[in-house]
Amino acid sequence: MEFNFSALPWQIIFGVGALQKLPAELDVHGLSNALVFCTPEQRHHAEAVKDLIVERCAGIFDQAVMHVPVETVSAAKTLASTLNADCTVSIGGGSTTGLGKALALESDLPNIAIPTTYAGSEMTNVWGMTEGGRKLTGRDNKVVPTFAIYDPELTLDLPAAISGPSGINAMAQAVANVTTQSPNPIISALALDGIRALSSSLPKVVSDPHNLEARTQVLYGACLSGAALGVGVTGLHHRLCHTLGGSFNTSHADTHAILLAYSVAYNAKAVPDGTKRVAEAMGVDNAAHGIWRLLNDVSEKTSLKALGLSPSDIEAAAGIATETPCNNPAPVQTGSVLKLLMQAHEGESPD
Ligand code: NAD
Repeated sequence: MEFNFSALPWQIIFGVGALQKLPAELDVHGLSNALVFCTPEQRHHAEAVKDLIVERCAGIFDQAVMHVPVETVSAAKTLASTLNADCTVSIGGGSTTGLGKALALESDLPNIAIPTTYAGSEMTNVWGMTEGGRKLTGRDNKVVPTFAIYDPELTLDLPAAISGPSGINAMAQAVANVTTQSPNPIISALALDGIRALSSSLPKVVSDPHNLEARTQVLYGACLSGAALGVGVTGLHHRLCHTLGGSFNTSHADTHAILLAYSVAYNAKAVPDGTKRVAEAMGVDNAAHGIWRLLNDVSEKTSLKALGLSPSDIEAAAGIATETPCNNPAPVQTGSVLKLLMQAHEGESPD
């Protein structure tokens, strides 16, 4: 066995009721004037943070949106500067966490993340911003949150229709790092326990959204899977999701959830050991079929057709996705990628 491993500067506070630790953690880090970020729909979560940190709250900016537009970053930056904020607190999904990361990148403001979906962005050094319809992304350790608070109670009101796809989106980050040409044993350990927790508890969350134990397991799985992505790799699966999201504006979590089974089937012969380990972690015989069945259990959207894509969109996407080389276990060719996408378009059982 031979490997290199470097962790990111994570600090994780996990547990039911962990949100209550926010004031004390701000003190530990010498932070006293936090600008709180949320989406308009999650204003109540931001108000709860404000009530908790009282005089340490500089204000609330409730305009976080998908894809982190540069105009939103600029408005948030201006407010942070006017209020003399010394940090940001993002409470919400990947879109809100992304805004805190953008300010960390551009203004060096410490960012604190309180995730309420399973996107996992709080565990990565990946930032993204959109300008003129183009999404720019990069990796920089300064966007890794100063600390992240995972409180399963905050996910109890996440609707089942978002929870299912969001949980499989998390699983995709873990799966990519087990089914790779050169798996790293430490990253695989994180990823496999993430897959185990997600696959066993996601159906329980969707059938009973107020099951706190199942919510806790899924949030834990999302944390581990985000960590695997943070220190790991991506392949064809992420390329396809970014192509569809970027060119056809499909929902991030749904796109990941629908494509994952087909991406795993595509790579299965190239990485048989990793694919077998994914199946074992899920307690199934065949990883691709297991993921497809999980999708059908936890989401109503099970095909690219259901996301509004037409066969001609699929053909265009196969071309765009294969324009530049992609690091992936199985060779990436337009014809085979088109076949993968057409199967996902129909929502058929993967090969
Ligand atoms: P999102 O943040 O857009 O949230 C989806 C919706 O769910 C929003 O309307 C939000 O207000 C609502 N919501 C969130 N939590 C809720 C709760 N507990 N109760 C009720 N409603 C709630 O979606 P997402 O899937 O979390 O994140 C997607 C974005 O994150 C994409 O832009 C993606 O590119 C990015 N992302 C980035 C990374 C990274 O490492 N940089 C990783 C994963 C995702």
